[in-house]
Amino acid sequence: MTVTATENNGAGDAVEQLVEGPPAEDAPPFSLELSQDQKDIRDWVHGFAENVVRPAAAEWDEREETPWPIIQEAAKIGLYGFEGIAQFFADPSGLQLPIVNEELFWGDAGIGMSIMGTTLAVAAIFGQGTPEQMGEWIPQCFGTPDDPKVAAFCSSEPNAGSDVSAIRTTAKYDEAKDEWVINGQKAWATNGGIANVHVVIASVDRELGARGHAAFIIPPGTKGCEQGAKVKKHGLRASHTADVHLDDCRVPGSCLLGGKEKLDERLARAREGKRTGGQAAMQTFEASRPVVGAQAVGIARAAYEYALEYAKERVQFGRPIIENQAIAFTLANMKMEIDAARLLVWRASWMGRNGVPFENAEGSMSKLKAGEVAVWVTERAMQILGGNGYTREFPVERMHRDAKIYDIFEGTAEIQRLVISRAISGMHIR
Ligand SMILES: Cc1cc2nc3c(=O)[nH]c(=O)nc-3n(C[C@H](O)[C@H](O)[C@H](O)COP(=O)(O)OP(=O)(O)OC[C@H]3O[C@@H](n4cnc5c(N)ncnc54)[C@H](O)[C@@H]3O)c2cc1C
Repeated sequence: MTVTATENNGAGDAVEQLVEGPPAEDAPPFSLELSQDQKDIRDWVHGFAENVVRPAAAEWDEREETPWPIIQEAAKIGLYGFEGIAQFFADPSGLQLPIVNEELFWGDAGIGMSIMGTTLAVAAIFGQGTPEQMGEWIPQCFGTPDDPKVAAFCSSEPNAGSDVSAIRTTAKYDEAKDEWVINGQKAWATNGGIANVHVVIASVDRELGARGHAAFIIPPGTKGCEQGAKVKKHGLRASHTADVHLDDCRVPGSCLLGGKEKLDERLARAREGKRTGGQAAMQTFEASRPVVGAQAVGIARAAYEYALEYAKERVQFGRPIIENQAIAFTLANMKMEIDAARLLVWRASWMGRNGVPFENAEGSMSKLKAGEVAVWVTERAMQILGGNGYTREFPVERMHRDAKIYDIFEGTAEIQRLVISRAISGMHIR
């Protein structure tokens, strides 16, 4: 099976698919019954995860490098690319994207992140760009099946992690040349420095804090945009993470996502103390949280399934260890927690796709729950495997290392609780 968005596969058609979303009042009812199309795509991604991703997982984890050959295989079948992502996103139930992510990350999270990391930059372009900007830049994020590329979303900085308002990277407008000049240092960027397209969050007015932020495209090969130190990580090691240095990096005026007119209006409103309708980095994170939650569910499910089979086969005291309630009840809890996390992810995905407001921070809830479930389930899976669980000969050790990041990136567990508690109380909880 190969995913194609439309018969002629033009970028314009894919943009239309991305842009067109039913308004909240026309939202299809929330349903757990998957359509045949959704099941077919799930099974197709599962096949790729099982036959291509899993067998390569240990090798790329050890190499700590981007698995380009596997990205290319994903591109060749249409799993990695603009048309594929547009088609998954276009599903009106909102469930296709989390289903695809769960299956892929069930295969392996490091490789999964190398394939899906680009979508964070794409989400920023989609969320804040004009249709013309989407048509121009999103295809360049992915490249082509013969020459696949990746993209990076650069918000975090050495002194601005959870506190996005502390971003120091600046963008100054050079009116004479209609160019933006960007200076600063980004930290922790997935695909940072190896990306074809970087999306950078920069401050255009420091006094306004996060309300003075804007998102910029750094086109391929732009002078002044360089990779800094590559990060050696605990998990997700097949995914490249690095600092990005921006030194007098000049980009055309058209690289400001959403355009100058819209930015000027937003800044004027902010200066008058009026509502501005969301901050550049936050808008991206809000849209991506349920999908990130789905990735965590995939890791948790992989570890649970491995531990279940192991517990049925491993014999101690003359019987399979699963015949002990201590083991069987743990597995029952693991399954229950995974299903609960998936339900929260699907609910938030349906809401996000259909413009239903996240009144109780349902996007954050889904990511928080799924991240904590993934950490807990993978840790329990190691326990069920005993000594084997602690070795690199068995995959749950890698799954546990990979799972931990889901408590940290795209908003730490503490920050998600802050967002949820503020949403449910209406109070400024600190
Ligand atoms: C593998 C990896 C990939 C990443 N990819 C990207 C990427 O592609 N793009 C990008 O922009 N960033 C990326 N990040 C950065 C990531 O989003 C940040 O690490 C994360 O937001 C946390 O920021 P920090 O590390 O500075 O921690 P800090 O903000 O310093 O937090 C440290 C601790 O303090 C807690 N804390 C902070 N403030 C509060 C508070 N108000 N109340 C309670 N507790 C608080 C936190 O929860 C945490 O436990 C990535 C990080 C990693 C490790």
